[in-house]
Amino acid sequence: MTFARTLSLCFLATLACRQSPAGVLLAPIPPGPVGDQLQSVLVRDSARFVEFRRDLHRHPEVSGSEQRTAAVVATAMRQLGLEVRTGVGGHGVVAILRGGRSGPVIAYRADMDAVPSAAPDPVDFRSLTPGIRHICGHDLHTTIGLAVATMMRQVRDSLTGTVVFVFQPAEERATGANAMLADNVFASPTPTAIYGLHTAPYEVGRIATTPGPMMAGRDRFEVTISGAGDLSAAADAVAARLLTLGTIGPEQVTISQPPDFVLLQVTSRNVSGTQARLQGEVRVASAASRARTRTAITQGLSSAVAAGITVAGTYEPMTIAGVTNDTVLADRAAEAAGVALGASNVARVTTIPPAFSEDFGSFQARIPGVFFYLGVSNASRGWVGQPHAPEYVADERAIQVGARAMAAVLLDALSR
Ligand SMILES: [Zn+2]
Repeated sequence: MTFARTLSLCFLATLACRQSPAGVLLAPIPPGPVGDQLQSVLVRDSARFVEFRRDLHRHPEVSGSEQRTAAVVATAMRQLGLEVRTGVGGHGVVAILRGGRSGPVIAYRADMDAVPSAAPDPVDFRSLTPGIRHICGHDLHTTIGLAVATMMRQVRDSLTGTVVFVFQPAEERATGANAMLADNVFASPTPTAIYGLHTAPYEVGRIATTPGPMMAGRDRFEVTISGAGDLSAAADAVAARLLTLGTIGPEQVTISQPPDFVLLQVTSRNVSGTQARLQGEVRVASAASRARTRTAITQGLSSAVAAGITVAGTYEPMTIAGVTNDTVLADRAAEAAGVALGASNVARVTTIPPAFSEDFGSFQARIPGVFFYLGVSNASRGWVGQPHAPEYVADERAIQVGARAMAAVLLDALSR
């Protein structure tokens, strides 16, 4: 999950749940012999999964440097007997689990990279790499990917179809998904749907999703100002005009039909000789807000400057596409997750956090998919799983919760 700027937001905390996850972790996933086997793997390997996560946490790697993490993941997938491809779009790892019976091909994605952070790590298994920490929960995402693969491997003979496990690098830099797509991650076999999750400050035991838009997309722009006169003053005038397009975003935006907001940042300002250049980022919640902002930047800035100075704006849409869940698949997936966790533990997302993006949306731009938030907070312990917050701490029971839910979702998707 990439982060646009420092906001004092806790975008999902209002949906915290008082219910302990302990009760929901005991039932089969879903009820029946297959669920019994999946559950037995979770019970058997729960300590191993926690240790796997702690190992990743001790050895965080930033975007583009996930060499060790990828090697650990590839080894674990090979030990499960899956077909493994490494070096996909950088340090990406793809592991294919073919079921015993023919059926659909679906994908499950987990991201692997960590975040620069010099703040002290509040857990015992603290980062051993100075200045880098897993404060976006990707160590849990990767572990849940392993847990789901381990569970599904246990019931391989009864699976109707194939699961492609996608371990993605460079999510924080928002380049990993596109790099894996460019490297033919879906070439063979080709999935028809993709699923994934991200830790969030819900209370542990809960997950959430919604049909339709769930997270903002991210675009880039550049404005060139040239001519005679005071280019520095002209650049300031253009920047001021840009900021009126929507820089002051609300901390969270209620999902309406369609959601419509813009969050704009000027990230660089450069004046030299006869030219000034402004570059920046835009977060948008819908195609309509994207189109409106694009028009304003490419056509509407000239009036901000004096005569003799020209302004030319370019707009690069969908650096990150925005997480938009397939409406039919999202309802099905939420229902399947409800079987695994109890329906009351599956919340519906009602707001879009403007400051966060996720390049899971790049996969969804290629094939339909569903993304979930996974609660990792624990109010009684004072742990808040707010992505990118220096004090981020996740309740590790979320590994079991996420693995249960995602195994149920994938099983259900294969059965359709
Ligand atoms: Zn993240």
